[in-house]
Amino acid sequence: MTGGHVVELQRNPTRAVRIGSITIGAGHPIAAQSMTATHTQDVAATLAQANALHAAGAGVVRIAVDSKKDAAALPAIRAGTPANLAIDLQENYRLCLDVAPHVDKLRYNPGHLYHHEPTKPWQEKVKFIAGVAADNDCALRVGVNCGSVDPAKKEKFDPEDSIGPMLASALEHCELLDSIGFTRYAVSLKDSDPRKVIDVNRRFAAARPDVPLHLGVTEAGMPPDGIIKTRIAFEQLISRGIGDTVRVSLTVSNAEKPQEIAAANQILADIAAGRVRSVVDYGLASLNIISCPSCSRVENEAFIDLARQVKEMTAYAQQHAITIAVMGCRVNGPGETDDADLGLWCGPTHVNLKKKSVELGAFPYDDILPRLRAELDTLIAERS
Ligand code: SF4
Repeated sequence: MTGGHVVELQRNPTRAVRIGSITIGAGHPIAAQSMTATHTQDVAATLAQANALHAAGAGVVRIAVDSKKDAAALPAIRAGTPANLAIDLQENYRLCLDVAPHVDKLRYNPGHLYHHEPTKPWQEKVKFIAGVAADNDCALRVGVNCGSVDPAKKEKFDPEDSIGPMLASALEHCELLDSIGFTRYAVSLKDSDPRKVIDVNRRFAAARPDVPLHLGVTEAGMPPDGIIKTRIAFEQLISRGIGDTVRVSLTVSNAEKPQEIAAANQILADIAAGRVRSVVDYGLASLNIISCPSCSRVENEAFIDLARQVKEMTAYAQQHAITIAVMGCRVNGPGETDDADLGLWCGPTHVNLKKKSVELGAFPYDDILPRLRAELDTLIAERS
């Protein structure tokens, strides 16, 4: 790991939402979540996984419940784990009556409500779910997913615009819940494309900075690619105060599921320390030194020292709002540094230097610091 700066993360002023023994929002620590992948009716296997996730640090463990038979397994699961439990309601929203007494949070998807009782207005169904949640001390998540947006919303937007309907759907559900006095909810807006996740969550947070957000990239895939995709979305959102709970969805075996929690907590720690994979603007009015978290692509271990030396050498420029990115490899370094004012990326014998998108050349490790200093001085002079 390379050393970045410790960032005092600004967080959006979201409402506090309690989920069992934890609270998200209102400046509480960002909670990592995960989900069991066992057959829920196999109580022993589901309990073992829920407990493994809890032991790994999961703030909330979600369990799949698709039928009354799955729901019937919940009392035994509840009795066997201290984990805070959440349930996804699928098409059959009325199943909340069976599950709510045994869990701490219910998630419904606005895009699934039309399947059952199609003539009943969605508002009535949401009121029903919220009533059951309130009666059973449960929080709610309004979980909007790009793959299953409410068709009634979709048809009002350009087919090319996948974000508009998601956003509109989330906002109208918030309005309805608020109007009936149910405010113990979070929202998620998920997509498999991290750029869309960034865009839709930024737009939602601008409209409703008070509503806690659950962040995630769907179908992220296997590690390490799945972690990298998710990391990029989280870096761009959490650095700007957006996000109160997160899930890293990985394609891993049941035994490896706790990796989702480890990955989430690693990403959160890295963002707070300035160890980032994409160029992150923390919105600070001071020097912003970021360095990648390093991985197997690093070709010269001197990168680790270099990141530290860059931080020390540039301390004199602390009061300038300049971003310097130090990346560990030639694979991602060139592309990832484009948004930095000054970017460095490391090869086996040389370090490449860039000012915005203009490449300034490759320098031996021993020569790079003076060269960086000269460029930094020039930049400060240009801006003053
Ligand atoms: S920039 Fe290169 S070395 Fe650093 S984390 Fe990304 S891929 Fe790994």
